[in-house]
Amino acid sequence: MQTRNASPDLCLADIKEDGRLRLHFSGIVQGVGFRPFLYRAAEKFGLKGFVRNTSAGVTLEVEGGRLSEFVRHIVRQAPPLSRIETLRFEAIPVRHSVEFTILESDARGQKNVLVSPDIALCRNCQKEMADPGDRRHAYPFTNCTDCGPRFTIIEDLPYDRPQTTMKGFKMCPDCRREYQSPSDRRYHAQPVSCPHCGPKLKLLIKGRARKGDALALALKILRADKVLAVKGVGGFHLACRAASAAAMARLRYLKQRSGKPFALMASLEMIRQHCLISQKEKELLTSPAAPIVLLAARPGNQLVARIAPGQNRLGFMLPYSPLHRLLIEKMGEPLVMTSANRRDEPIIFRDKAAELPGLSDSILSHDRPIHAFADDSVVCSFDKEIYFFRRSRGFVPLPIRLPFS
Ligand SMILES: [Zn+2]
Ligand SMILES: [Zn+2]
Repeated sequence: MQTRNASPDLCLADIKEDGRLRLHFSGIVQGVGFRPFLYRAAEKFGLKGFVRNTSAGVTLEVEGGRLSEFVRHIVRQAPPLSRIETLRFEAIPVRHSVEFTILESDARGQKNVLVSPDIALCRNCQKEMADPGDRRHAYPFTNCTDCGPRFTIIEDLPYDRPQTTMKGFKMCPDCRREYQSPSDRRYHAQPVSCPHCGPKLKLLIKGRARKGDALALALKILRADKVLAVKGVGGFHLACRAASAAAMARLRYLKQRSGKPFALMASLEMIRQHCLISQKEKELLTSPAAPIVLLAARPGNQLVARIAPGQNRLGFMLPYSPLHRLLIEKMGEPLVMTSANRRDEPIIFRDKAAELPGLSDSILSHDRPIHAFADDSVVCSFDKEIYFFRRSRGFVPLPIRLPFS
């Protein structure tokens, strides 16, 4: 068996042009559209065989012609969010397969596949949310093979829906059709759901669910300059209007943080009104990780004194989940979005913990459990370098490469 580090320079001399080939991929190859990508690539090259997730990555068997060209293609064109760490391949006897299929995952063996981080809402899903004719119009839990929760909902490997916190939601016929259709962008997207079959919002006040439109009630609370707890991707935030002195005073009292800066969430257009954004900083804000980026505040900016006293930077992030996007769009102004936690403790991510008195009486929650917590990451771009102040959501659990072996 040959082992190669995956790179466009992969040595393909050992691959016969035809026959049957078995390939094992390791790295970030689950939860990033890798199997659908291999399916489409095999179709394109007219190859037969199968692909399946394993506890160690992805196994692919293909037979037909132009095999070395096929392998070069998949290494070069792999989905942008995937990362092939190793690729092993071996020639095996031809089996005369008549089709190419995605097989059930094989859960045997050692579990050492890299789990994908959570991925910010993609452009295609944003477009659907904005389209009144789309069945996911304004749906707060939309996702696809290119975006959505991953690390925070995965309970076990291989990455399949029954091993995520989406296991309690049975796909409706429309979602199942998308999930099973190779040409659909939700083909094998494990958290796929829609307003009919997916998670639902709820608004709790003092632990009791209120009847009515949960989002509309939540907006009412925010507009009344109150503090609202919001269940997000990796935990709960405390949210309030950044422009409201009363809301900010209440938030500082609840958090017992008199002078520490708070993170803000807003659209790119809103952020530009308050901060100067370089090209590099824009790329960070709009990246799949969507971290909080510390940005230089415009001179004389009104928010700084309230949000980050004594500083000249504001920490902004874009609304990275569909629910956050709805909140920011409907409010039309920046919101403070600070982690809901007790002093010096990690972000609260379990529903019961969020109901503890003293943090917020009002909670915009939902019924998709968070399995692993992830706080918002914080980065700063300075002199062409990127510095991490906190490396969490959007980056965990990826390993950090060290400059020595
Ligand atoms: Zn998407
Ligand atoms: Zn559905």
